[in-house]
Amino acid sequence: MGNTVNTILFLAAVCLVIIFFTSSEKPHPFDAHIAWLVENSEFEYYGETYPSVSYHSTEDLQIIAYGSKKIREAEIAEKPLPRIKALYNHRTNSLMFLEGMDITADDTAYIVVHELVHFLQNTNGITAQTECIASLEQRAYVLQAEWQEEHNHPGPYPNFLFVKLLSSSCSR
Ligand SMILES: [Zn+2]
Repeated sequence: MGNTVNTILFLAAVCLVIIFFTSSEKPHPFDAHIAWLVENSEFEYYGETYPSVSYHSTEDLQIIAYGSKKIREAEIAEKPLPRIKALYNHRTNSLMFLEGMDITADDTAYIVVHELVHFLQNTNGITAQTECIASLEQRAYVLQAEWQEEHNHPGPYPNFLFVKLLSSSCSR
């Protein structure tokens, strides 16, 4: 009788250990993207804390990205601003995504890869050396496009004319 109880307790302990290890070894959704970026770029990764993740409405993301003044001006000029799907805040090391977006899904992976370039620019000291944050977009879009090409990703390719326009806003 005592033996049976001991066996059950032992098996229960083994189960807990297995549950603990399988849950702690579960890869983070950013792991594979970071590994690819380190392999395919000048960036290094030394285990810096991943950005925190939060989800926001389209309206909120547009306001955070452009500011309400610029949005109003664009509305008056009837030249709508490009819709923001994600943002990286280097000051708080946080990622903001459009609500309802599944950042572990294949179809949104190119967006996550792009934002993680900004994270690596930050941890590799590039952001701090940059006077104009918009100039960081060039590298992020190039690496995003290379990632899409290598993974045969159907997501929309970056518009490099738009990227050039973004960077040129720096020299003004
Ligand atoms: Zn970007």
